[in-house]
Amino acid sequence: MTEHLHVCPLCEATCGLAISVDDGEVAGVRGDDEDVFSHGYVCPKGTLIGQLHDDPDRLRTPMIRDAGGRLVPATWEAAFDLIHERLRSVVTEHGTESLAVFLGNPNVHNVSSTLYLPALLRALGTPNRFTASTVDQFPKQAASALMFGTGLSVAVPDIDRTDYLLILGANPLVSNGSMMTAADMPGRIRALRTRGGRLVVVDPVRTQTARAADEHLAIRPGGDAFLLAAIAHTLVTERLTDLGAAHAHLANESLAAVQSAVDPFTPEAVQPLTGVEAGTIRRIARELAAAPSAAVYGRMGTTTTGLALADGSTLPVGTVASWLIDVVNALIGAVDSPGGVMWALPAFGGPTTEGTPGVGRGATIPGRRRTRVRGLPSVFGEFPAAALAEEIDTPSEDGRRLRALITIAGNPVLSTPDGRRLDRALDSLDLMISLDGYVNETTRHAHVILPPPSPLARTHVDVVFANLAVRNTVRYSPPVLQPGPGERDESDTIMRLTAIAFGIVTGSTEPRAEDVDDLVALTVAQQAVADEASRAHGLDAGDLLAAVAPLRGVDRLLDLRLRSGPYGDGFGRHPEGLTLARVRSAPHGIDLGPLRPRLPEVLRTASGRIELAPAQLVAALGALAPLLDEAPPEPSLVLVGRRQLRSNNSWMHNVPGLSGGSNACTVQLHPDDAARLGITDGMTVRVSTEVGAVTVPAEVTDRVRTGVACMPHGWGHAAPDVWGTTARARAGANVNELVTSAAVDVLSGTAVLGGMAIQVTPA
Ligand code: SF4
Repeated sequence: MTEHLHVCPLCEATCGLAISVDDGEVAGVRGDDEDVFSHGYVCPKGTLIGQLHDDPDRLRTPMIRDAGGRLVPATWEAAFDLIHERLRSVVTEHGTESLAVFLGNPNVHNVSSTLYLPALLRALGTPNRFTASTVDQFPKQAASALMFGTGLSVAVPDIDRTDYLLILGANPLVSNGSMMTAADMPGRIRALRTRGGRLVVVDPVRTQTARAADEHLAIRPGGDAFLLAAIAHTLVTERLTDLGAAHAHLANESLAAVQSAVDPFTPEAVQPLTGVEAGTIRRIARELAAAPSAAVYGRMGTTTTGLALADGSTLPVGTVASWLIDVVNALIGAVDSPGGVMWALPAFGGPTTEGTPGVGRGATIPGRRRTRVRGLPSVFGEFPAAALAEEIDTPSEDGRRLRALITIAGNPVLSTPDGRRLDRALDSLDLMISLDGYVNETTRHAHVILPPPSPLARTHVDVVFANLAVRNTVRYSPPVLQPGPGERDESDTIMRLTAIAFGIVTGSTEPRAEDVDDLVALTVAQQAVADEASRAHGLDAGDLLAAVAPLRGVDRLLDLRLRSGPYGDGFGRHPEGLTLARVRSAPHGIDLGPLRPRLPEVLRTASGRIELAPAQLVAALGALAPLLDEAPPEPSLVLVGRRQLRSNNSWMHNVPGLSGGSNACTVQLHPDDAARLGITDGMTVRVSTEVGAVTVPAEVTDRVRTGVACMPHGWGHAAPDVWGTTARARAGANVNELVTSAAVDVLSGTAVLGGMAIQVTPA
């Protein structure tokens, strides 16, 4: 029996796992007590990662579609040959504009994807990029980019030191933290309460986090932006603002612009839109201002829940709400202040550590490109996921439409609006390639599926989440197990695809995968020596590559980034600094300390200032003001989402140990609503909108606000050929079949997934 330390790659919490292996089999998993970040915390998903590894339904070899239309196992060479032939045909006939890529959320947990996908996207030359970000967190990233400079300039709550935490639309006791990498949220929240701190949760549902809070405000869905604007209004009108150290870095006139923008949003005026009493709003504002330190944090409920309007549509408010969270943080002096909201300093670098410290190009939001069908703008170079189906199935006179799609670790049929339409559209593609470990609701349409290795058979390093962590650490996890027979390293697969795409798109000789690796490494080295903030600035790129030899692949790129990063050894300039070898020699990780103030060097706005009042967001808030005069009546029932501890979007429902119990697809209804509708607990009900209908069991509970129906996403495994017997036995229903793709927050390209009126009737 051997024990291996490995950071859990399943969610943003990044817990350190101690995995016992007996004769090549996982014998047990526990939290690593000595892990510098998670200190032994682990959730049920992490302890059952061995079942994911062992899952007989997880793909081990490529699948290709045979002449009869069935997906059958194939060799890697047969799969690459088919891709080569079909991709060449599509590009020759329709050009690279007919190609699209969809990237799912697991890519940011995967170091191969993080480091090598940019090369594949460049090689494909497609402008059509779609990701899960536009059904999730882009409102927060867009607001942060406008205020602070980049999409990863997200200030996270300094949860370990705060005295007051206001959480809106988030359930970190279940999600384990999101856009806030903080392992052991239960422990961190307990510690907050133990040191006398106060937790207030704003959510239409009395979630697990709300139950652990000092106070729960059951807000009307879609009301967060109004509540935050009224809190800001109170802070301003009662002269409670104190911006602290951030004040000196505000853009000219931006404070005055914010004060003017929130002026109409009195607590009384927003009361019908929030369902929160004006006196309570004033008290919360005063408490935030009076606390020794305080932080405001929001997640999915603030980014993807809209406000139901009288005409039956749903108003997107995600980016405005995300902006107002940091407006309130700024007004109470929380920005860049210990116990407030701060920026991580990631060891491998990131957008907030690159370029000229304190100034940058800022962000163009929304972007300049437009989708073909609806003319929706791009954001951060991506198109809204809500537009994917129409870009495939809507013909144009000149024959332009998407003809080929590559999905990588994504299941948009379940995770994006109007999933049924996308399900149909995928069948009309000339070519669909999926990099995925399962045949799922999306990949079942693919012509080729290329599987990754088991999550325990690959190196794991959290390059992205280090940008969002509540404490600076660095950890490296080598593979625990060898890849199984036929399994292939993921970065090799991506490099091979890159080589194929490069050869076809440029019409030149197809490079070898090793050449792609060398080119990616050279690019990283060149960027490091050119970047004035890098510890390798001014050195020779060739010398950097010689210094990291003989490393190749992921390790070579990690060493380059680490040594030129903010804690790096600078290739000898800072002998005490980090190298990959040093990080690898610390199996429990290296603690780099609590968050430190980073203003003004963290800023990458064009002005070099905090843009507290971006014109787009001030205008968007102004557009909400007419609703203050005549609040739309609350529909009798609106939909909101729900996170589940033993679920992970759509992709862990085939793990036997996680299925059952609370991990079920139900619609939660308040007893008053259930009685009004003639529904009893456990009854099968029909949930419907104008877009679609699903059938699920009802769960009658007073944890939801009256007028609210709460459903989880990621379910709906009814197709005969998807996942495996465990998932299909508890298939659930796809909540996104109820969601229209019409409602999109154009400032972030993000779909409205909740807040719309629905009907529930006995089935
Ligand atoms: S909380 Fe997230 S990272 Fe931690 S064990 Fe669970 S799934 Fe893994």
